[in-house]
Amino acid sequence: MSDYSKPLPIIEKWNAPYWQAAKRHEFVAQRCRACGYLHLPPGPACTNCLSDDQEWTPLSGKGTIYSFGVYYQQWHPGFKDDMPYNVALIELTEGPQIISQVVGCANEALACGLAVEVTFEDVTPEVTLPKFR
Ligand code: ZN
Repeated sequence: MSDYSKPLPIIEKWNAPYWQAAKRHEFVAQRCRACGYLHLPPGPACTNCLSDDQEWTPLSGKGTIYSFGVYYQQWHPGFKDDMPYNVALIELTEGPQIISQVVGCANEALACGLAVEVTFEDVTPEVTLPKFR
């Protein structure tokens, strides 16, 4: 039993490969076989053409901070020891954007355009979260 108290992803059949890859510290996205569109977060259909013919492809894990916010208000009790904390929108080199967190960097040093790369945080025996450093 984990004492991790923050919200966790709901792992379902269509996003399980994403979370299984994260557990192996691999970063992947879905590519649509119908139109070639690469997209995150994982979903049951392509967000460009709605085809459900999807495959998984590895990503470089590299990107830049597209936007970010620093939270001074505690909206969830699990974050009480992290205040203030950041939430960042990362634009991956391959194109998709992902909402995550930048770690290993003071909130005051965050800037749009800053280069980041994926890192993995094993938060429970079942769940590993991709974050960026
Ligand atoms: Zn598509």
